[in-house]
Amino acid sequence: MSTSIVKPELLAPAGNFEKLQAALIYGADAVYFGGENFSLRAFGDNFTRDEILSAVDFTHARGKKIYAAVNIYARNADFDALADYLKFLDAAGVDAIIVSDLGVIALARQLTDLKIHVSTQANVTNFHAAKTFHELGASRIVLARELTGEEIADIKANCEAELEIFVHGSMCISYSGRCWLSKFLTGRDANRGQCTHSCRWKYQLVEETRDGEFFPVAGDERGSYVMNSKDLCLLPNIAEVIRSGVTSLKIEGRMKSVNYVAGVVKVYRAAIDSFCDNPDKFTVRDEWLDELDKVAHRPYTTGFFAGDGKPTEIYSTSKPKRSANFLGIVRAFDASTMTATVEQRGKFTVGQRAEFLQPCGETFSQTITEMRDVDGEEIFDAPHAQQLVTLPVDKPVEVWSLMRSPT
Ligand code: SF4
Repeated sequence: MSTSIVKPELLAPAGNFEKLQAALIYGADAVYFGGENFSLRAFGDNFTRDEILSAVDFTHARGKKIYAAVNIYARNADFDALADYLKFLDAAGVDAIIVSDLGVIALARQLTDLKIHVSTQANVTNFHAAKTFHELGASRIVLARELTGEEIADIKANCEAELEIFVHGSMCISYSGRCWLSKFLTGRDANRGQCTHSCRWKYQLVEETRDGEFFPVAGDERGSYVMNSKDLCLLPNIAEVIRSGVTSLKIEGRMKSVNYVAGVVKVYRAAIDSFCDNPDKFTVRDEWLDELDKVAHRPYTTGFFAGDGKPTEIYSTSKPKRSANFLGIVRAFDASTMTATVEQRGKFTVGQRAEFLQPCGETFSQTITEMRDVDGEEIFDAPHAQQLVTLPVDKPVEVWSLMRSPT
């Protein structure tokens, strides 16, 4: 690695224990999760206290780090339970907490030795704010997503705290998620982890005396999605991102699938390693961009990074697209019979094409020529959710490989 380049941490979302495993097995250096309360994903598959203990063990056994999101804007009534939870996280051994609220930062400092990462929800957009949080005890600042690469580099040059930036995933139309839209329209507060993604809904105009008459507010028969942001993808800018000296590159998506987490982590792992091994010869490979196209996503944008002012909304639809369907996870491989045991996650049948995304090895494709159930009976398809089936594979396949089919 070049002496002037410091390899950044790749930080991945862990929406549940399986996604945490996938993120680490596919190459993340660290993961972040939310507990049952106080993180901003109230509808997520959040971790119980027992699961947090298991997650810390699993992560540390691999020499990697785990951070707990405690990033709600708290109310007075939250603080007794928060005190208890923070003490639990400290005793559990999480490597840091991700916090937005100054009161929660003060409480954590008073009661625990937990490292503090300031959440992107705190909207840090300048080095004065970053330095102030650092002086208040934060070791890391997760910068607001609304910054250009130049501004990020400037903050880095003027602040000693570690910096973390988002490189991939969904974006909010509001300032780094500080938004009242969902609360206003549905009563569910995005700042308490209950966002209903109201910005992605289809909006029309109604004149108040003409009940039921909807007037389009954009020149498109499908309506208007004026607040529906594209998804962030800084892979094309990854060299510049790493050169800026930020400590951690974060992937958004605690609500995304295990297929999404594995695919995106694998791409960024490869890109970071490739750049740091040989910065002068680095190029963004087509196969990485192809992989990012296979997971569910909206059209990609580099967001604010380039500072080019290009529009970042999608006016036609709010539905994500993907170019591959997730079929199952390889749970075992028998080299003597060249068969894989696959846990079903989507419909597949004998005769169809399937590809295997492997944690370390190359992705390969083949036709499913035969399938058997756990009793060894020949079957044509696997109709039951999470059913285990064995099938012959053309090549040795790694456990935790994901089986997918083109859409
Ligand atoms: S409604 Fe949209 S902009 Fe507001 S917090 Fe939710 S995702 Fe973000």
